[in-house]
Amino acid sequence: MDCIKIKKLEVFAKHGVMPEENVLGQKFVISVELYCDIRKAGQTDNLEYSINYADVAAFIAKKTIENTFQLIEKLAEYLAGEILLNYPLAEKVVVEVEKPWAPVHMPLETVAVSVDRQWHISYLSIGSNLGDKKAHLDMAVERLKQDRQTQVLKVSDYIVTEPVGGVEQDDFLNGAVMLRTLRTPEELLDLIGEIEQEQKRERIIHWGPRTIDLDILLYDQEIVHTERLLIPHVEMANRMFVLEPLAQIAPYARNPLNGDFVIDMKRKLLSE
Ligand code: AMP
Repeated sequence: MDCIKIKKLEVFAKHGVMPEENVLGQKFVISVELYCDIRKAGQTDNLEYSINYADVAAFIAKKTIENTFQLIEKLAEYLAGEILLNYPLAEKVVVEVEKPWAPVHMPLETVAVSVDRQWHISYLSIGSNLGDKKAHLDMAVERLKQDRQTQVLKVSDYIVTEPVGGVEQDDFLNGAVMLRTLRTPEELLDLIGEIEQEQKRERIIHWGPRTIDLDILLYDQEIVHTERLLIPHVEMANRMFVLEPLAQIAPYARNPLNGDFVIDMKRKLLSE
């Protein structure tokens, strides 16, 4: 991907673990790589299609001066997030923070940390079968939109489906959502857990009625296998109530395990 670089921007600021550092201040040297598509800017010679590096440099200096953190890890993380949130053309950033005068009492050139952060695309399935189901789904989408680190790019139509799993209960209303997020898969799971809690999802009966259920179906092309999380979602290829709305917003999203398109998964399930 194309890249705009700001190298070794010097800023006098007050980050540090020792109280003296927060009072006296010292020099920080910041380098940033902004990954974005600048072909159109190259073709048209128009700054509108690029990211203004003078602007970004001033932004970094301001954010570095107006905050006081203990760790340069925190400063780098914070700057990476703020840049991605404030410069929508940037898909990915690498931020390096050097602290050449760090009080380590040894002869060294500098100490530094570097973080690499980017936007991720994720698909969720959402479902409800208690009370005002549409209102529950709308509320969940609204809550996703309110998360500063997450943008809702697409929402499918909501479809009415019959419950699976043999428990006698009302029909479901199901949908799919496409997100752009700075959250990791685990952080995204935390967010959907909070939304479920807020909407007081009842989990008394397994497979039973629920005010709202959110699941992570896909997260970029990553395969995630932790104690809390399996991505792609294990049941996605077997559930028409997941594939139907997902196929509407992302027919050519792929299952990273076998390369299948969503539309292929849906066709396979229909033919079974
Ligand atoms: P359920 O109530 O059926 O939605 O299951 C929720 C539980 O499944 C949570 O405690 C998660 O830790 C776990 N889980 C595993 N993989 C996923 C996933 N891809 N999306 C959401 N929850 C998941």
